[in-house]
Amino acid sequence: MTQERYYWHPHQPVRGELPAAYKEASAARRKANVALEEADAASLKAYATLDKVYTACSPAIEALHKVECPDCPWGSSRPFPQKEEKP
Ligand SMILES: [Zn+2]
Repeated sequence: MTQERYYWHPHQPVRGELPAAYKEASAARRKANVALEEADAASLKAYATLDKVYTACSPAIEALHKVECPDCPWGSSRPFPQKEEKP
């Protein structure tokens, strides 16, 4: 693991030794932020893919919607996933 550098203010590095517990918690937070950024990027990519695939599949989806929801009050509809409720 790379050694983290700490600063009091921009261009004013901490010269002494910070408490180990603080450094560990700080590193854990930084690691969590990286995971969050990666998950956010993956989520955006998945949304973009879903939009493309929906566009490509919309004739089939709309045909199924017409069969299953013939008097639809909402007009054109895009299905969305929802967890089934347990009885
Ligand atoms: Zn409908």
